[in-house]
Amino acid sequence: MSGQNEDQRASRECPRCDSHAIARSRIRGGFDATLKRILGLRPYRCLDCWHRFVGVARHA
Ligand SMILES: [Zn+2]
Repeated sequence: MSGQNEDQRASRECPRCDSHAIARSRIRGGFDATLKRILGLRPYRCLDCWHRFVGVARHA
């Protein structure tokens, strides 16, 4: 973990409704932490349809 800043450039879309109103979901440990650490994924949430999905965290 090198303390990279949160990626502000990530322009995510909801895979369900194509909304751009996406919020990063907080990583609460457990499953999410495992996703992030092993797969480099982080959770997002659509603010329109409330769909929760994971996106690839940009990794330079
Ligand atoms: Zn959506």
